[in-house]
Amino acid sequence: MRRGPPRDLLAKLWGGPPELTLGGVVLTVNGDGALVERRLAGGELACPGCGGVLGGWGHARPRPVRVLDRPDAGLVPRRSRCRQCGATHVLLPAWCLSRRADAGAVIGAALEAAAAGAGHRTIAAVLGRPASTVRGWLRRFAARAEEVRAFFTVLLARTSPDPVMPAAAAGPVAAAVSAIAGAAVAVAQRWPELGTVPVWTAASAASGGLLIAPGWPGQGRNTS
Ligand SMILES: [Zn+2]
Repeated sequence: MRRGPPRDLLAKLWGGPPELTLGGVVLTVNGDGALVERRLAGGELACPGCGGVLGGWGHARPRPVRVLDRPDAGLVPRRSRCRQCGATHVLLPAWCLSRRADAGAVIGAALEAAAAGAGHRTIAAVLGRPASTVRGWLRRFAARAEEVRAFFTVLLARTSPDPVMPAAAAGPVAAAVSAIAGAAVAVAQRWPELGTVPVWTAASAASGGLLIAPGWPGQGRNTS
């Protein structure tokens, strides 16, 4: 840690680029626009490609993001351009997941329900989403559940001075969801000054927005 609790602490825990990203997206844990502008102006955001300083570069196309229990959020992602290599990157708040039309909390709610034994049709009805969409999330997550569990268990162990490992859970999906919740608690305890970081925001940040992206986390990466 360079200083205090970094706003993008979950990304920093992995020692990767200060703003973890893949696919041209830079994730900021606090998506608050004024803060992002200050960080851009202050040269605090680094290019994921070369480490150069990112400057403002207009905005991406507005898009709705579906959230829980509220009307869709209108997201107008800020774009940035690297002053060194010229690459452009979208700045995405961590309550979103990369390339997903639903906020992390929506997908997280589906995963929690699945961990508790609900099927995709039931979950889809409760969340008001198409069954095929929910089935897609659950399949994607289930396919990587053991890797996800390992990733967040390592994060939990590294974050907490006295880690309490999640209790045994019924099946790999439940175990992975339990590890995610445990890691979020450990982060909140270690950096109380961060305030509340919702579990699925923490999960999105830790995964660089890739929580249910293909191939994440890579096998063997960060799990030793
Ligand atoms: Zn660059």
